[in-house]
Amino acid sequence: MDPHARLSGHRVLSLSGFEALINSLVEEGRRVLGPVATDGVITYSDVTSVADLPKGLRDQQAPGSYTLESSDTSLFGFASTAASWKPFLMPEPTLLIRASRTTDKTITIEQPEPEAPPTVFLGVRSCDLAAMGVLDDAVGDSAGRHNGVFDPTYSARRREAFVIAVACAKPSATCFCGSMSTGPTPTAGYDLVVHEICKAERHEFVIAAGSTEGDGVLDGIDSRAATTDDLSAIDAIHHEAAASMTRGIDPADPSLAASVPEATLWNDIAKQCLSCGNCTMVCPTCFCSTTFDTTDLTGTTSERWRSWDSCFTNDFTAIHGGAVRHTTASRYRQWLLHKVDRWHEQFGSSGCVGCGRCITWCPPGIDITDEVKKLAAVAREEG
Ligand code: SF4
Ligand code: SF4
Repeated sequence: MDPHARLSGHRVLSLSGFEALINSLVEEGRRVLGPVATDGVITYSDVTSVADLPKGLRDQQAPGSYTLESSDTSLFGFASTAASWKPFLMPEPTLLIRASRTTDKTITIEQPEPEAPPTVFLGVRSCDLAAMGVLDDAVGDSAGRHNGVFDPTYSARRREAFVIAVACAKPSATCFCGSMSTGPTPTAGYDLVVHEICKAERHEFVIAAGSTEGDGVLDGIDSRAATTDDLSAIDAIHHEAAASMTRGIDPADPSLAASVPEATLWNDIAKQCLSCGNCTMVCPTCFCSTTFDTTDLTGTTSERWRSWDSCFTNDFTAIHGGAVRHTTASRYRQWLLHKVDRWHEQFGSSGCVGCGRCITWCPPGIDITDEVKKLAAVAREEG
């Protein structure tokens, strides 16, 4: 890219400028959601000022383990949050339809308009940005090209989301976005992208717009032009973050893993896997759901709700005659191979974006990158 064009595309905000950015978005009547520390983890919640952000906190993540510790004074010095943006895009539960019986015994059925207030997603990591792209293809408006059906709640909320991505400076030990080509630096799909530079002598935010709306928001905020030193600083953040990731999935391995469906490894994994479904709940791309019905006490109104489900539950595949996947081995195999292999056939990309959450939040610490490697090794031996 032309270095002059790159320079002119970036502005630099001071800490007070960053505060002004958040304030201006709040004053416009948008709900601003961003990272906050609560109950010993960093997750997303309402933010109205810089003071709400997890200043000086760093996450230490490992298979089956997550702790927070004090670091420098950065606001975004952590890696992936405990929960993804999924709860705000696919609220749990979601009302699908309401049926009402009137006194003349006619029944009306209404499909409520999705609630989608203007919202700001502040602090979106590159892996989670990629996950939104994956969900756009699977359940969003662009899903229409696959099957003509899309989730109106997800699509409406996604359209109303103003996305402020923040480049990841310190990936955790469970992150592997580098190997999935989804990070650590956001490259598209945002309204604004931020690099936080937090050093003893300066605390500033290098910002670029990725949309016309982003340009408009940035226009009203005091900032200075970026210098070549600023661009060198953000390049250094990218290279250090990318080099720090030690886990990964070799792009050739998933299809090899899928070629050994009867491997005894599935049974080995099942000896550890609790079928708890944590991995599917924290995964930013898992979207399986179930429905349940409620009626009021007078029997005049009935509602159908959608709630999250997991392919690890026994009931998930229940049909007449029982569950189709009644062993933990078969459920883990379904989850892993769908994520890393079959998703390509269905939606044209991997279903895994390398956020590492399923590794961190798996109680026995089962590591998807290890399992893919082991299965690919079996395929190589057998091939
Ligand atoms: S499968 Fe695991 S690493 Fe991949 S996107 Fe889901 S939670 Fe993240
Ligand atoms: S892989 Fe881990 S998180 Fe997923 S169901 Fe098994 S034990 Fe639970």
